[in-house]
Amino acid sequence: MSPQVESFFEYLRFPSVSTDSTHKKNVENCADWLINRFDKMGLDATKHATPGHPVVVAGNAVKKDRPTVMIYGHYDVQPVDPVEEWKTPPFEPTLIDGRVFCRGATDNKGQNFAHILGVEETLKADGDLPVNVIFLLEGEEEIGSPNLAPFIKANRDLFAADICAVSDTGMIGPGIPTMTYGLRGIGCLEFVVKGPSLDLHSGVYGGAVANPAQVVARLVASLHDEKGRVQVPGFYDKVVPLEKWERDMWAALPDGDAATLAETGSPGTWGEDGYSSLERRWGRPTAEVNGIGGGYQGEGSKTVIPREAMAKLSFRLVPDQDPAEIISAAAKFLEEQIGDSCRIELDPGHDGPAYVMDPHSKFGKAAQAALKSTFNDDPKLIREGGSIPIIQDIKDILGIDTLMMGLALPDCQIHAPNENFTIENFEAGIRLNQNLLRELAKS
Ligand SMILES: [Zn+2]
Repeated sequence: MSPQVESFFEYLRFPSVSTDSTHKKNVENCADWLINRFDKMGLDATKHATPGHPVVVAGNAVKKDRPTVMIYGHYDVQPVDPVEEWKTPPFEPTLIDGRVFCRGATDNKGQNFAHILGVEETLKADGDLPVNVIFLLEGEEEIGSPNLAPFIKANRDLFAADICAVSDTGMIGPGIPTMTYGLRGIGCLEFVVKGPSLDLHSGVYGGAVANPAQVVARLVASLHDEKGRVQVPGFYDKVVPLEKWERDMWAALPDGDAATLAETGSPGTWGEDGYSSLERRWGRPTAEVNGIGGGYQGEGSKTVIPREAMAKLSFRLVPDQDPAEIISAAAKFLEEQIGDSCRIELDPGHDGPAYVMDPHSKFGKAAQAALKSTFNDDPKLIREGGSIPIIQDIKDILGIDTLMMGLALPDCQIHAPNENFTIENFEAGIRLNQNLLRELAKS
């Protein structure tokens, strides 16, 4: 086993599960291990305490005549449950057929360690780096990074960078270089429809008072028309249409409809008319019902009119939709349909805007060139449907964009049992970092 893989295995053996307080010491020990690793490479590393788990910051000496890149990653991991479904011990890295099985192998230790080793290799070869590098590794990503944005805000001077790079997104497939340049935003809204003051006998009162469960069903159904378009007034007003190059590039990717069916097990696709599955998932906004309930849920029948019923909604948003505007428009849309036969209580949840950067900007082009020279193929430019709030925080607080060059493969099982990372991608990640720093220095 190469010393690099050995070192990777050491990193993986820390059960740095951020959500579980019994692992607090392991998270701390993992941060200490990183500090030590950075010290050995000759980088200046500091462990910063936060109200939660520590943040590790490391970098080389700043030289004024070269760009500064901040590399973000996280050293905390998800819990391992259900542990009985693991084929190998979750915190004992095991190499099988070119894949390392271990919690954190892909998400995110393998990916951030590849960056660290890339820097180490360049330092060994050249004695210096072509850019200023600032590593920012946090221990709370898997619990929503509660302390990271305040930490960056309070320490802006530590992060005076021109661009950020993150490897925590996916690749289309093995060997296909992939750059993610956009993420959807989100807005959540839940509501309770309240009717009678108590559950009623549906024989005695049925037909004479509104049934909150029926009202919730009607409201939920009103969110879309038969073409899958969201019916909240103004919902699409600020949506930036997909550009032709984006639609062309996504249409040329391996069949997104087939992949969507295979990945989800759904019998058929569904969505906004006129768009492909990938466009629906990456570039178009949605309204989803995440939960719905009310009335009797037990065995057999119970002839009742429930006194209340509820639904939880989330809206996936795209540039330039404003989450607050969308949530209030949706709340108004629901409220206006209620009439006076019952009441509605609305409760907005968390939200965050969509993120998009220009992949054809100078740093975007540098990232593409690095991907191309690493994988010997033109990179695919994609967006992802989910949100990574810290990317937007970095934009808001530091005013810089993030290059998302993830190495996660579709079958890497992140957050699930048997998480794995291929040695091929681990090694590609090391080269990718070296190529990226070189390309950024030229840009
Ligand atoms: Zn994760």
